[in-house]
Amino acid sequence: MTKELDWSNLAFGYIPTDYNVRCRFADGKWGPIEVSQSEYIDMHIAATCLHYGQEVFEGLKAFRGADGKIRVFRLEENARRIRQSAIGIKMEPVPEEIFAEMVKKVVKLNERFVPPYGSGASLYIRPIEIGMSAQIGVHPSSEYLFMILVTPVGPYFKEGFRPTNICIMREFDRVAPKGTGRWKVGGNYAASMEAGEKAHELGYSAVLYLDPKEKKYIDECGPANFFAVKDGVYITPASESILPSVTNNSLMTLAEDMGIKVERRHIPVEELAEIQEAAACGTAAVASPVAEIHDLDLDVKYIVAKDGEPGPVTTSLYNRLRAIQLGEEPDTHGWNTIID
Ligand SMILES: *Cc1c(COP(=O)(O)O)cnc(C)c1O
Repeated sequence: MTKELDWSNLAFGYIPTDYNVRCRFADGKWGPIEVSQSEYIDMHIAATCLHYGQEVFEGLKAFRGADGKIRVFRLEENARRIRQSAIGIKMEPVPEEIFAEMVKKVVKLNERFVPPYGSGASLYIRPIEIGMSAQIGVHPSSEYLFMILVTPVGPYFKEGFRPTNICIMREFDRVAPKGTGRWKVGGNYAASMEAGEKAHELGYSAVLYLDPKEKKYIDECGPANFFAVKDGVYITPASESILPSVTNNSLMTLAEDMGIKVERRHIPVEELAEIQEAAACGTAAVASPVAEIHDLDLDVKYIVAKDGEPGPVTTSLYNRLRAIQLGEEPDTHGWNTIID
């Protein structure tokens, strides 16, 4: 059956796999890890996730390496982050050991869906936790379901690693200044959909959000972090309303390994006129290079990729990270978990 999958042409969509794994929190404790073949959840119509958005999630990937082994990238970081997200919206945090065990289990069980080396495709891993208690009063649930589904996804850059245009629109914020931006909660995505769709209609790949308090500094780039290269320095926003991206963190480490200076600081919008490279970064694409940034309200265009090509720093960081994920280069930071 998997022979029929055209790995290199898979979309970032949902393709059913054989199993998902689940774990329930009730009566003050986490239960056993369950393996399920169902794609559905049986839940109460008054569950808190449905009414009050008690939902947090993660996204990470498994890759088939050059040596045929399956590697999952930095799962400990996602285990830590989903706990922070859960605590942030008063949900029961999943113990990191349970998270790790479930990731390994669900990948192993769906091994035949891990795309072959060289296809550019990977197995996307989606952990999600939801509040399950039936209640109408607004207070945290006492029961939770944590589950992980996996689905194979195609290469992000089907037409090659090419820069795209993004835009700044001041009429929308994804998150509040001291709100939920630092956590991976579904509600942030709901709040970003209108702006995202509007940007797509106008031909942009994403919205470059400004900080929601002063609208002076660069914040996030759609559902991804933003970095730029200015005079050889890797700069990325320091902000309490952005999600700490595992990819951004990894790229910063690789940049330092390569002798590139890294600055995490406020980046005023006007500074976009002085950068030579920019990219959105996250698990889906690793780094998605930016060609131009159009400030729609001020009618200013920042031409980042002057020749329309991805810049040298972005390209080498992208290649380094991909090579580590695929086992082509030594994993000197111990980022990969091999599934055997
Ligand atoms: C998931 C996510 C990212 C990217 O994080 P990675 O760990 O690199 O995948 C960035 N911003 C937001 C808002 C996100 O939800």
